[in-house]
Amino acid sequence: MPTVAELSAPFGNFMLGPRRGQAVCPLCFDLLGGDGGCYSCAHGGPPLDAMAPISYSVAGEQLHHTLVSYKRMWGEPARHFRFGLAAVLWRHLAGHEHCLAQAAGVGGDAFAVVTTVPSSRRERAHTHPLQQLVGDLVGPARGRYARVLERSEAPADPHRFSEAKYAARRDLAGRSILLIDDTWTTGANARSAAAALKAAGAGAVAALVIGRHVNRGWHQNDRQLRALTQPFDWERCAACDEEKPAVSSGDGRV
Ligand SMILES: [Zn+2]
Ligand SMILES: [Zn+2]
Repeated sequence: MPTVAELSAPFGNFMLGPRRGQAVCPLCFDLLGGDGGCYSCAHGGPPLDAMAPISYSVAGEQLHHTLVSYKRMWGEPARHFRFGLAAVLWRHLAGHEHCLAQAAGVGGDAFAVVTTVPSSRRERAHTHPLQQLVGDLVGPARGRYARVLERSEAPADPHRFSEAKYAARRDLAGRSILLIDDTWTTGANARSAAAALKAAGAGAVAALVIGRHVNRGWHQNDRQLRALTQPFDWERCAACDEEKPAVSSGDGRV
């Protein structure tokens, strides 16, 4: 059996770890191309307690292809993509769950419950491969994994925040929740899911997404993406990469 390091290694050649900085949305890591605010975060519902993408998913590029294919394909190709993505999540959680827990204000290094964002389309809600991937394949998650949310009966636009889109199956009694999704585009589904978790009494809710979707051709995105570390640095994440103050050597202070 290949190891998590072996299965995740090829992703290091094309993943692009988001970093905080100028013209990057502080809430959802969208590339903004200037000082203007982020439209999705201004209009997309209440913010999560923390959100961190493992990588950017650039439209038409390799991670985007993988994130689409693991859901659409069958048989051996689907298995290949699912094991790869599970290894990426496994390696990321083992190294950086505590960073996200800290950012979300969870007391301790880990979330009490791990769950996934169900499909916003009711007909797909029972067969989402992400549930199987996180619940069965990802070592650090499977012991805490629970299918907490379901798509409600309420009609809802898949691209808009809605408090009624999802409902929790049980009372969450202050428990901290790590909400995993494969892709974040506007964040509408993750934020709708978080609202349902909070309505059921959840404590801190943080989202971890594999790919934060962006288009290379928009704004200054190509320049901003080229400035990110390559190959991918598994030792750093979007949540533990807060800008450290520069060490001063010449002003006489200790
Ligand atoms: Zn944003
Ligand atoms: Zn980290």
